[in-house]
Amino acid sequence: MSYPIKRVQTGLNNPILRSISEEIEEINQDLIIFCHKLVVLMYQNKGVGLAAPQVGENIRVIATSQRDKKKTKDKFLGETIMINPKIIERSKEMILREEACISLPNCLGMVRRHHTIIVEFLDLKGKKQTKKYKEFNSVIIQHEIDHLDGILFLDKVVKEKPGKKK
Ligand SMILES: [Zn+2]
Repeated sequence: MSYPIKRVQTGLNNPILRSISEEIEEINQDLIIFCHKLVVLMYQNKGVGLAAPQVGENIRVIATSQRDKKKTKDKFLGETIMINPKIIERSKEMILREEACISLPNCLGMVRRHHTIIVEFLDLKGKKQTKKYKEFNSVIIQHEIDHLDGILFLDKVVKEKPGKKK
């Protein structure tokens, strides 16, 4: 099976973006090429994450970039490709952050997500990885995994602004 990259899919009612994507059963050379292209497209579009449906393939693959974001520094840690990613633990603690999406140009909104998650996924060698992510990195991964389930961030936007108490 080959995975041709299509143009970036946009639109709140785009059927590709609204479908549940299929699990990957075999990591072959075509899939590996697709994953590398996904990373390139993520950077070309100035994104911090990109999911396969966003380039027209309803398969469970995401590319994400990680940062070490602290008050005094913001260090880029590189990207991670996740095949069949699954969140196996979520913190009760939530965070509210502004999100955007390459598939929804000119949209911004505040979304509440889990502060910390543990994700299980396959790497490009087919090896099972279990990793913990928090804050910024956790938010990106939750946003990208939502794409695999046909969910867009605008579905989850809340009206509150950060720091505003009710
Ligand atoms: Zn998105």
